[in-house]
Amino acid sequence: MSRAEPQFDELYREVILDHYRRPRNAGTLEAPTHQAEGANPVCGDEIELHLAVEGDVICEMAFRGQGCSISQSSASMMTERVCGGTIDEARRVMRLFEAQLVDAAEPDPALGDLEALQGVAQFPVRVKCALLCWKVLREALNIDETEHARTSQGD
Ligand code: ZN
Repeated sequence: MSRAEPQFDELYREVILDHYRRPRNAGTLEAPTHQAEGANPVCGDEIELHLAVEGDVICEMAFRGQGCSISQSSASMMTERVCGGTIDEARRVMRLFEAQLVDAAEPDPALGDLEALQGVAQFPVRVKCALLCWKVLREALNIDETEHARTSQGD
């Protein structure tokens, strides 16, 4: 890797590395109802996301990809956080996470492990790494938000 990893508090770094080394919900689903993939060419990150949605509940999620620890751990934390909840809840967490990274807002307790990525807000180049999986989730669920233009990038 040519670029130095951002420096984080030890505790946060442990959480990030743990998700990176042992990604939750890694793989694919046999019969996804929704799926999407995306890339962050600046860093070489790739995420493919599968979801099984019943009604408005995200029953199953799986992802696979490659790239830096920020992008992959964010995806792992995202699946752990929003899987089992409703699409509205996923959208709420997405907004809180974007506020944490883009607006450097105080982390909300509802973010759970995702709070560990708070430090990324200080590294604008890496914000795209952390937001990649959410961009893919947004696309998979066809969520249109006014914030979209701020966090998306040219494909
Ligand atoms: Zn990256």
